[in-house]
Amino acid sequence: MTIFLACCAWVMTIGACVSAILSIEKASDRIKTLHQIPCSGCAFFTNDYRLKCTVNPINACTEAAIGCRDFEPRTQPCHACRQCQHKFE
Ligand code: SF4
Repeated sequence: MTIFLACCAWVMTIGACVSAILSIEKASDRIKTLHQIPCSGCAFFTNDYRLKCTVNPINACTEAAIGCRDFEPRTQPCHACRQCQHKFE
Protein backbone atom coordinates (compact mmCIF):
# COMPACT_ATOMS: atom_id res chain seq x y z
CA MET A 1 0.00 0.00 0.00
CA THR A 2 2.83 2.38 0.86
CA ILE A 3 4.49 1.82 -2.52
CA PHE A 4 1.19 2.50 -4.29
CA LEU A 5 0.75 5.81 -2.44
CA ALA A 6 4.35 6.80 -3.15
CA CYS A 7 3.81 6.10 -6.86
CA CYS A 8 0.62 8.16 -6.82
CA ALA A 9 2.45 11.04 -5.17
CA TRP A 10 5.21 10.94 -7.80
CA VAL A 11 2.70 10.74 -10.64
CA MET A 12 0.86 13.75 -9.27
CA THR A 13 4.10 15.68 -8.79
CA ILE A 14 5.32 14.92 -12.30
CA GLY A 15 1.88 15.78 -13.71
CA ALA A 16 1.92 19.13 -11.93
CA CYS A 17 5.39 19.91 -13.28
CA VAL A 18 4.43 18.98 -16.85
CA SER A 19 1.26 21.08 -16.57
CA ALA A 20 3.24 24.06 -15.29
CA ILE A 21 5.75 23.77 -18.15
CA LEU A 22 2.99 23.54 -20.75
CA SER A 23 1.24 26.57 -19.24
CA ILE A 24 4.45 28.60 -19.37
CA GLU A 25 5.02 27.64 -23.02
CA LYS A 26 1.44 28.57 -23.89
CA ALA A 27 1.76 31.94 -22.12
CA SER A 28 5.06 32.59 -23.88
CA ASP A 29 3.50 31.91 -27.29
CA ARG A 30 0.60 34.22 -26.43
CA ILE A 31 2.95 37.02 -25.37
CA LYS A 32 4.98 36.63 -28.58
CA THR A 33 1.76 36.93 -30.58
CA LEU A 34 0.65 40.05 -28.69
CA HIS A 35 4.04 41.67 -29.26
CA GLN A 36 3.45 41.39 -33.00
CA ILE A 37 0.56 43.87 -32.83
CA PRO A 38 2.01 47.00 -34.47
CA CYS A 39 -0.52 49.61 -33.35
CA SER A 40 1.57 51.30 -30.65
CA GLY A 41 4.11 52.32 -33.32
CA CYS A 42 1.57 53.40 -35.92
CA ALA A 43 0.83 56.98 -36.95
CA PHE A 44 -2.92 56.31 -36.92
CA PHE A 45 -2.94 55.06 -33.32
CA THR A 46 -4.55 57.75 -31.15
CA ASN A 47 -3.74 56.34 -27.68
CA ASP A 48 -7.34 57.20 -26.73
CA TYR A 49 -9.59 54.38 -25.55
CA ARG A 50 -12.64 55.95 -27.23
CA LEU A 51 -11.15 55.76 -30.72
CA LYS A 52 -7.93 53.74 -30.77
CA CYS A 53 -7.35 54.07 -34.50
CA THR A 54 -8.74 56.49 -37.05
CA VAL A 55 -8.43 54.01 -39.93
CA ASN A 56 -9.31 50.58 -38.49
CA PRO A 57 -10.90 51.23 -35.09
CA ILE A 58 -12.33 47.73 -34.79
CA ASN A 59 -9.04 45.94 -35.46
CA ALA A 60 -6.80 48.29 -33.49
CA CYS A 61 -4.87 46.66 -30.65
CA THR A 62 -6.21 43.20 -31.49
CA GLU A 63 -4.61 40.21 -33.16
CA ALA A 64 -6.47 41.25 -36.33
CA ALA A 65 -4.09 44.22 -36.57
CA ILE A 66 -1.08 41.94 -37.10
CA GLY A 67 0.00 42.56 -40.66
CA CYS A 68 -2.30 45.58 -41.01
CA ARG A 69 -2.00 47.01 -44.53
CA ASP A 70 -2.63 50.55 -43.27
CA PHE A 71 0.28 50.55 -40.83
CA GLU A 72 2.27 53.75 -41.09
CA PRO A 73 5.36 54.16 -38.89
CA ARG A 74 4.90 56.97 -36.41
CA THR A 75 7.29 59.86 -36.90
CA GLN A 76 5.86 62.23 -34.28
CA PRO A 77 4.70 61.64 -30.70
CA CYS A 78 1.05 60.65 -30.30
CA HIS A 79 -1.69 63.25 -29.89
CA ALA A 80 -1.94 62.67 -26.14
CA CYS A 81 1.83 63.07 -25.79
CA ARG A 82 1.71 66.35 -27.71
CA GLN A 83 -1.02 67.60 -25.36
CA CYS A 84 1.17 66.79 -22.36
CA GLN A 85 4.10 68.63 -23.97
CA HIS A 86 1.93 71.75 -24.40
CA LYS A 87 1.03 71.69 -20.70
CA PHE A 88 4.67 71.72 -19.66
CA GLU A 89 5.79 74.36 -22.17
S1 SF4 B 1 -3.87 51.50 -39.03
FE1 SF4 B 1 -3.63 49.31 -38.51
S2 SF4 B 1 -1.65 49.20 -37.45
FE2 SF4 B 1 -2.27 51.36 -37.47
S3 SF4 B 1 -3.32 51.67 -35.50
FE3 SF4 B 1 -4.89 51.18 -37.05
S4 SF4 B 1 -5.17 48.96 -36.90
FE4 SF4 B 1 -3.23 49.44 -35.86
